[in-house]
Amino acid sequence: MAMLNEILEYNKTFVEKKKYEKYQTTKFPNKKMVILTCMDTRLLELLPKAMNFSNGDVKTVKNAGALIMHPFGSIMRSILVAVYELQATEVLVIGHHDCGMSSLKSGAMIEHMKERGVNQETLDTLNYSGIDINNWLHGFENVTESVKHSVELIKKHPLMPADVNVHGLVINPETGKLDLVVNGY
Ligand SMILES: [Zn+2]
Repeated sequence: MAMLNEILEYNKTFVEKKKYEKYQTTKFPNKKMVILTCMDTRLLELLPKAMNFSNGDVKTVKNAGALIMHPFGSIMRSILVAVYELQATEVLVIGHHDCGMSSLKSGAMIEHMKERGVNQETLDTLNYSGIDINNWLHGFENVTESVKHSVELIKKHPLMPADVNVHGLVINPETGKLDLVVNGY
């Protein structure tokens, strides 16, 4: 609560002092790119700085692990919107080393859920309904393989136009160094 108040307080000055002016741009990405990356806090500023992206340059889609869970889920839909409606001609999948989703133990997370009040009956009901929570929470073993897999999925998606280039990279969350995994040209 205290943090929210702090944000709202800061926001008042931000708007009053017109600090937004230097960020003004359009909804179309200047660099005609859409990137899919991880929600990791270390990448919040580091990734755009390391890639020379400023406000307005790229569309960004983020989630835990930069993973596409379903070919017709919200991540894929966002990428398609960027391509068809926002003039993106390139897609970049950017995983990172030391990702929380590469070490996530779904069993441990389910234990945490129980500690926070989710009861076993609920988990059983989900299980009987065909929802495999363990599998759903599972991340990946190897970031390079995971990025390759996502690139393939995007590239071969039945609704993705063939002229869109899909690249794969892995970023170091400490130094910002990029390793090329898939060159989509
Ligand atoms: Zn991550």
